[in-house]
Amino acid sequence: MSPAAPAASRAPRVDVVVAGGGPAGAAAALALARAGRTVLLADAGRGPAPVGEALPAAARVLLRDLGADGALADGHLPCPANRSAWGGPALASTDSILDPHGHGWHLDRPRFDRQLRARARAQGVRLAERTTARPLARTPDGGWTVRLGERDTVRCRWIVDATGRRAAVATARGARRLVGDRLLAVHLTLGPAAEGADTTTTVEAAPDGWWYTAPLPTGHRLLAWYTDADLPAARADLVDRLARTRHVHPLAGAHPWPPGTAPRRAPAHTAHLDTVHGDGWTAAGDAAAAFDPLSSQGILTALFTGLRAGQAVHAHLDGDPGALPGYADDLAAVRSLYLRNRRTHYAAEQRWPDRPFWQRRHTPTTHEETSA
Ligand SMILES: Cc1cc2nc3c(=O)[nH]c(=O)nc-3n(C[C@H](O)[C@H](O)[C@H](O)COP(=O)(O)OP(=O)(O)OC[C@H]3O[C@@H](n4cnc5c(N)ncnc54)[C@H](O)[C@@H]3O)c2cc1C
Repeated sequence: MSPAAPAASRAPRVDVVVAGGGPAGAAAALALARAGRTVLLADAGRGPAPVGEALPAAARVLLRDLGADGALADGHLPCPANRSAWGGPALASTDSILDPHGHGWHLDRPRFDRQLRARARAQGVRLAERTTARPLARTPDGGWTVRLGERDTVRCRWIVDATGRRAAVATARGARRLVGDRLLAVHLTLGPAAEGADTTTTVEAAPDGWWYTAPLPTGHRLLAWYTDADLPAARADLVDRLARTRHVHPLAGAHPWPPGTAPRRAPAHTAHLDTVHGDGWTAAGDAAAAFDPLSSQGILTALFTGLRAGQAVHAHLDGDPGALPGYADDLAAVRSLYLRNRRTHYAAEQRWPDRPFWQRRHTPTTHEETSA
């Protein structure tokens, strides 16, 4: 018998433990709690906070469905338009005035996540912040004992894996993660602009990848260079490369370069699990399917899959045998639409047919991930 077993048998019990307190985990916890389930939401809060992310206007609908409209009430910057130099050197603009949902947002991501978790708590979800959740053992009734942090345990009937790109629970249960490319973000936060900054997002294609820049609610600016991790362009000097851009360089030039700060690197590849549910677990958000940031669909998809995973787990625990397969079908449909759009977007840029970055995207393949 494991040393944890006697303590585990006295451990408190909930219906569902959600591992991961990003948008997917908070949405799953909210959906489950609103359906009357007892839920514990554990968030490890590890790693650097995401910066400079944009949320499309359509998120309004999902947040309303989750009873979490307030998550955008303050602290985020409206995004009036997206501009891109893609397929040609000139900038084209998509104005939010044409969007029936209104404008999108430049998020303060830590704040957005905290606001969603606060909504979950108000809905009765038990919150364990700065706490890693790790499935420890199965219980005789088919549930789980889950380790919370170093000492505590909790028992539950089901686990939602919302741990982000690591998909920690699903991969530990044998699910395989498949990746479609090696996209990497090399990014830096520039200082606040002296005068009123541009408030749009700007994307600019380049021979070995693409640039993204957006203002932050604090007045700072995110500057990000996207290329493949195995290409020389992933190691090249950012300043030198930036100087060769037509649109991003002047935008960045309005902000002071932070002295002595090295750019950060973050994996941004397309990935998915070969199965999004198994015996006692369901995956949501990036854990289930992670998208190229060019799509700007990551958070929206995390909210949607979190909501749908919560609904499906609730129905499954009520005895509906079709609930989890139905969720898997929904996710497959979302992914297939994403892949179609991704192909179309990359196909629209044909200026560098001899460069590996673009060649790979014009003939994409999927292979099994070999490292985390
Ligand atoms: C460079 C880059 C730029 C991006 N830009 C955009 C953008 O502009 N717009 C957009 O919509 N999307 C963007 N995305 C995608 C977006 O960040 C993700 O899709 C979104 O964060 C996914 O949410 P999630 O809840 O699934 O996972 P995450 O946000 O990754 O949250 C997972 C959480 O789980 C926690 N955790 C991990 N393991 C455990 C454990 N064992 N127990 C408990 N907690 C655990 C982590 O600490 C983390 O808090 C971008 C992604 C990248 C990499």
